[in-house]
Amino acid sequence: MSCMSEYVPTIGLEIHAELKTQTKMFCRSKNDADEERPNVNVCPVCMAHPGTLPVINKDAVRHVLRVGVALKGELADYTEFDRKNYFYPDLPKGYQLSQYEYPLVSKGELNGVAITRVHLEEDTASSMHSEEGESTTIDYNRAGVPLMELVTEPVITSAKQAGDFARELQLLLRYLDASEANMEKGEMRVEANISMGKDGVLGTKVEIKNLNSFRAMERAIEYEIKRQTQILEKGEKVVQETCGWDDGKQKTFPQRVKEGSADYRYFPDPDLPSLKLSEMPEYTREALEGTMPELPAERRARYIKAGVKKEDADAFVSDERLGKLFEGVIEGWEEGSPKTLLAANYIANDVVNILRLRESASDTRRDTEERDSEDSAEIPISARNFKKIIEMLSERKISSRVAKDVLLESAKDGADPEEIAKQRGLFQADSGANIDAVVAETLLKHPGVVEDFKKGKGAALEYLLGQCMKALRGAADPVVLREKMREAIGADK
Ligand code: MN
Repeated sequence: MSCMSEYVPTIGLEIHAELKTQTKMFCRSKNDADEERPNVNVCPVCMAHPGTLPVINKDAVRHVLRVGVALKGELADYTEFDRKNYFYPDLPKGYQLSQYEYPLVSKGELNGVAITRVHLEEDTASSMHSEEGESTTIDYNRAGVPLMELVTEPVITSAKQAGDFARELQLLLRYLDASEANMEKGEMRVEANISMGKDGVLGTKVEIKNLNSFRAMERAIEYEIKRQTQILEKGEKVVQETCGWDDGKQKTFPQRVKEGSADYRYFPDPDLPSLKLSEMPEYTREALEGTMPELPAERRARYIKAGVKKEDADAFVSDERLGKLFEGVIEGWEEGSPKTLLAANYIANDVVNILRLRESASDTRRDTEERDSEDSAEIPISARNFKKIIEMLSERKISSRVAKDVLLESAKDGADPEEIAKQRGLFQADSGANIDAVVAETLLKHPGVVEDFKKGKGAALEYLLGQCMKALRGAADPVVLREKMREAIGADK
């Protein structure tokens, strides 16, 4: 009778992000994720030589507190660092400096998901296992890099919601300049806890690690929901365990847990001072609020309020290139200007199309879902030139057809759109009237004169052109006008 009631997924996320700082969390070794030579950014402190003492990196503390402000969480007024003891070669000290009792941030919310806590800790070294599995080498460049850990409440109910949350967090970290948060580079690492409950009773949870892209994360969660549901529907029990995600096989697999995770024997680190944050002026909420940029959610709301479609607003907020162009174009226009929407539509359609063409030409391997900012094409047109096109279009100097052509043309070599339109006679008329419409109207008004012209009376054409010019108040290119007139009458060129 298992079909009588449905199993409901409950998902919680644990997300680690490497923070952008000059130096490591507790010493002056460089924090440089791009360093390719192993074991160069190390010193006696992060290598845990006896007698060395750690010093707290203030920038790292500030990053986490700013994240807390953005999440509308509670900022700690007292905090301390604890030793989380476990033994593993990637941990030189034999413990990780983390926060247990007093996280920097408690509560808060993002994308409708409640946050439990955000705390600060240090990263471990990176281990590289040889393909044969016979040896492991360790690079300590990453050991001691400041790491933020965010834990959500188990309130997420689908893979999509989990993915949306993680994407929004990545954006937030980038807007705050707190982390590059590239999942492919391990700068942001997501772990998901999934359980299937029934009739309000929570099920046994399974933890999935090794999720190095948003897509992998969503697929792993979907897979796990199906797997656990099938087990439960057979009347069997889900085993509590930690799994990895095999991207090739598209399935989760049980992983050996590195420690008997139970007891980390947390205790406050005796070498580090506790911090009374409420007594430190630079860490007050007020001081931190003064440093906040416009956040992704705020920017999205501003665009939507201006009439931009939700999906376009999302694209401008998450794609830095499109966002910059849009901001550059609308700068100086008054609020509610219809030009704003016009610009949004041309960016979302025409500019995005040009980008897609260039990206697929430059790299066909790349999965568009996993676009990495570093290998994506650059915006082909300057905000200044793009703004000119939108203004010409809005003043009806050029038609929408012409606008698209001028955009393509200007994107090729950066030429001034006004020059392009001028040189090619693409202006409709400065009066804003449409030349084609005026020509058609003039011909209708003077059928006799048209007949005269067709019978070979050249002066008749001059008369018609004069009438058009008058209607257009002279604001038309005579050469273009003559050509359009001859075309409309059906005369040979
Ligand atoms: Mn952690």
